[in-house]
Amino acid sequence: MTTLIGPSEKQVDFILTLLSERDIEAGTADEMRENLPAMDKRQASDLIASLLKLPKLPRVRRPNPTQEFLAAIQKSKYALPVSHINHLDLDFEIHGDLLFVEVREYMGTLYMRRLTGSLGGFTRHKLSVHDVIDLAKVIASNQYLYAKTFGEHYSCCGSCGAELTDPTSRSLQLGPECRKKFGF
Ligand SMILES: [Zn+2]
Repeated sequence: MTTLIGPSEKQVDFILTLLSERDIEAGTADEMRENLPAMDKRQASDLIASLLKLPKLPRVRRPNPTQEFLAAIQKSKYALPVSHINHLDLDFEIHGDLLFVEVREYMGTLYMRRLTGSLGGFTRHKLSVHDVIDLAKVIASNQYLYAKTFGEHYSCCGSCGAELTDPTSRSLQLGPECRKKFGF
């Protein structure tokens, strides 16, 4: 004979999960939790069936932790000398003496990508959340320096990569539109 006394552990776990995920009044959910030990297996399975019919609560979307750090710097390309970042515990290895990154916005979200390859044909690599935050902090300490370093390395506008045709642009290493972003 199968005993009907008390719900199984599996049933209890499932009911507790459902109570936290389904759209149910908090007071009612508390009452169900309290009554759980007094239920038999059949009542528990009936309860599961009725909870499964309830709509799921919308998932809480966590705010993206990188956004406030990326919002503090310009949307631009940057080159960071390795000596400026070798105190950081980065999740990737840097080859060469400069790290190239780009900050840009896509559909309302700011992204930082690591760039490898050459101008016009960059490969963009994802960075971990903690790398993005650490690198954004370093960039924020001297944004113009790092944009300019990018421009110097590639002989172009440090911010967008455009060719620089006039002497002022070349001396700043920023084109006429991009230098406004950096306050020139
Ligand atoms: Zn530019």
